[in-house]
Amino acid sequence: MQKDIEEVLISREVLREKIKELGKKISEDYKGKELVLVGVLKGGFVFLADLMREITIPVDMDLISVSSYGAATKSSGVVRIIKDIDINVTNKHVLIVEDLVDTGLTLKHLKELFNTRGPLSVKICTALDKPSRRKVEIEVEYDGIIIPDKFVIGYGLDYAGKYRNLPDVCTLKESLYNKN
Ligand code: 5GP
Repeated sequence: MQKDIEEVLISREVLREKIKELGKKISEDYKGKELVLVGVLKGGFVFLADLMREITIPVDMDLISVSSYGAATKSSGVVRIIKDIDINVTNKHVLIVEDLVDTGLTLKHLKELFNTRGPLSVKICTALDKPSRRKVEIEVEYDGIIIPDKFVIGYGLDYAGKYRNLPDVCTLKESLYNKN
């Protein structure tokens, strides 16, 4: 696996510090409120697991699964719900927990979807952000680490289903996805 990596872009230590900061802020902002964390599968599960352990107030959590890029490295712009959450978010605060905001299409769609379910609020928390790639305007209330326009793997993020288990955010050797 290590031979496929070009470089470590964000180390596990830097990720840990950012997650601590986000968890602290979320704990303060939602104190006394009923909060539901909604992790976006598959990529968001690693971040969700780390983030929720940095949150010091009681929270509920659930997972939603949306279509990914498959083996491609660019977004198709098509968002498909594969598995919805099971819990009712009416009169609750929803915080969508995502690995990375790229074009913003996935989160715009998810925010609109949850807003139709009578929540008290719907906000977004992301581990990584590529603002230079945005296609739609979207507010990210709990923004993670800003990264350049590079295809990244690790910390939950895959390439063709692999590398999600890398503890750091890395770039992949271009020869592996640009075969021409
Ligand atoms: P968006 O809808 O914002 O374009 O895309 C969001 C999703 O696309 C992310 O949650 C992630 O799953 C995937 N994605 C975007 N950029 C990358 C990337 O550089 N690497 C990987 N592995 N997935 C990405």
